[in-house]
Amino acid sequence: MVYCPYCGEKNKDNATFCKKCGKRLPEIENKPTSHHLPGESIHPMGETVKSSFEWDVAIIAALIFLISYKILGIISPPIAPWLAAAFSILYLLSATKKKASIPLLIIITLLIAVNIKAFIGL
Ligand SMILES: [Zn+2]
Repeated sequence: MVYCPYCGEKNKDNATFCKKCGKRLPEIENKPTSHHLPGESIHPMGETVKSSFEWDVAIIAALIFLISYKILGIISPPIAPWLAAAFSILYLLSATKKKASIPLLIIITLLIAVNIKAFIGL
């Protein structure tokens, strides 16, 4: 319901003129919610969350790197750092879900492939 600013009469939300005094009613501000895409965040807080560095994720990623580096170091030292890095990056990707990290993942995968090839070739 919208109230007439001139006489105070109740009018329908879509009413242009007051039914009692006939004066023009102020237009209701329609919030453009339909303009927002489903994936688009309308909350300003979301921006700060995105930019903030996730320490817990970084620490876990570092631990994954160290543990897998230790284990892989025993099995195959030449590929150990690459696979350890790949594991930690894969964890980071799954944890943060950043699309920008996909090219980095491709580079790492290529580096691993090259190192495995070199390892087999020895
Ligand atoms: Zn009125």
